[in-house]
Amino acid sequence: MKKWALLGVMAVFVAVPVVLWAGTLWQGMPALAYLYATGRLLALVGFISVFFQFVLSAKIKWIERNIGLDKLFGIHKTSGLIGLTFILIHPIPLTLTDLLAGRIPSITLPKLVGASSLLIFVIGASSAVLYSKLRLKYETWKAIHTANYVALPLGFVHSLVLGSDLSRGSLRTFWFILAFLYLAVLAHKLWRRIQIRRHPFQVAAVIQETHDTWTLEFAGKPVAYKPGQFLIVQLIRDGRVSEPHPFTLSSSPTRKGLAISVKSVGDFTSTIRHTKTADRAYIDAPYGAFSFLCRDAPDLLFIAGGIGITPFMSMLRYMADSKLERRVVLVWGNKSERDIAFRAELEAIEAEMPSLRVLHVMSSQPDWPGERGYVDAEKLSRALDGLQDPQVFLCGPPVMMEVVLRTLRGLGIPKKRIHYERFSLR
Ligand SMILES: Cc1cc2nc3c(=O)[nH]c(=O)nc-3n(C[C@H](O)[C@H](O)[C@H](O)COP(=O)(O)OP(=O)(O)OC[C@H]3O[C@@H](n4cnc5c(N)ncnc54)[C@H](O)[C@@H]3O)c2cc1C
Repeated sequence: MKKWALLGVMAVFVAVPVVLWAGTLWQGMPALAYLYATGRLLALVGFISVFFQFVLSAKIKWIERNIGLDKLFGIHKTSGLIGLTFILIHPIPLTLTDLLAGRIPSITLPKLVGASSLLIFVIGASSAVLYSKLRLKYETWKAIHTANYVALPLGFVHSLVLGSDLSRGSLRTFWFILAFLYLAVLAHKLWRRIQIRRHPFQVAAVIQETHDTWTLEFAGKPVAYKPGQFLIVQLIRDGRVSEPHPFTLSSSPTRKGLAISVKSVGDFTSTIRHTKTADRAYIDAPYGAFSFLCRDAPDLLFIAGGIGITPFMSMLRYMADSKLERRVVLVWGNKSERDIAFRAELEAIEAEMPSLRVLHVMSSQPDWPGERGYVDAEKLSRALDGLQDPQVFLCGPPVMMEVVLRTLRGLGIPKKRIHYERFSLR
């Protein structure tokens, strides 16, 4: 699905209750009724935005295919915060209406149910926003976020019992359609989990690439994917199943099996080196839209930082195997040459593909004979030299991505020709 199509569907879902709500207003309505209607509208729109969070985060492939999971999660974050704000403030006009009409608002069970739902959403959203500040572990954040699956049904019950717009008519039917879709999303998640568990992959090889990067090769049922896409893997080692982790496929679809190349950065990745060929894995793939095959352009500029090389390795392997004649420049920033993975293979591809130019940039190796320092405007201008309206692909550490994105815009590359993959799904 294209991003504009998704946003269009979301807009229609929001427009339905707004139109039906507008139909309940009448000319000459007293000010208090307007205040009350405002509260109802905030609740309706807020609930639908929150409902969409479940659809957007359910990893439904036909929705994410052309958008990419990280961008989809970006929409999830923004629309979730907007929806939550609406829901948070909707009691204000409703309570004010009661007070101004001389009624003392009572505390009832449906109101408590709504408050519990709201509390869970607020805790979930706060943990996402304050993730870095609170130094939360990813697993802790995920557990908190998963509680939202309980919050939505609670909100649904609350709105159905208390929402005057939902007591009968088209809006009530619409609400039940939302409930049905929610159950369909849950069923889809369960079905995918069962499918993945039915066909575990075998670890076929464990290869050390550098001092901190290891490649795992997997054998199993064939997976159709584009070079540059990623998978979500759970390793089964010593009878224990790990948390699911996303990794770009460094392998190419032109070759047999799947491979990921993992840099040791934390609890899980530092254990990759201990994986054995007897181990197995549950693999959910493919995801993402970070592939030159999704863009139509003869010239390409690839910019990688550190382990951000993996999608480019996949794409270059694919190009070399398919004998594709594209003008490609790869700019790859590392600290020092000991961080360069796949060096021999990359040189072999460069020798085979005269249309490929590889520029290594070392930030902490004063005696490096090539480019030194960071990937900056000067180096990028040199890389762009000779490329005609290239599509630019960028993948690296967050700080580098931010700086390079700004630099590329400064160099006059239009936004629509810059594509990036963040190694973060929050
Ligand atoms: C689309 C995508 C592609 C990626 N491709 C690669 C790759 O090719 N090679 C590579 O080395 N790394 C890749 N990563 C990053 C990799 O997923 C994380 O480094 C890894 O999950 C960290 O786990 P940890 O427990 O070792 O580290 P931690 O120290 O626990 O986490 C470090 C950071 O990694 C992220 N993270 C941790 N656990 C998870 C999880 N279960 N699911 C999602 N994110 C998590 C969080 O942002 C966390 O802050 C990719 C990430 C994404 C989103």
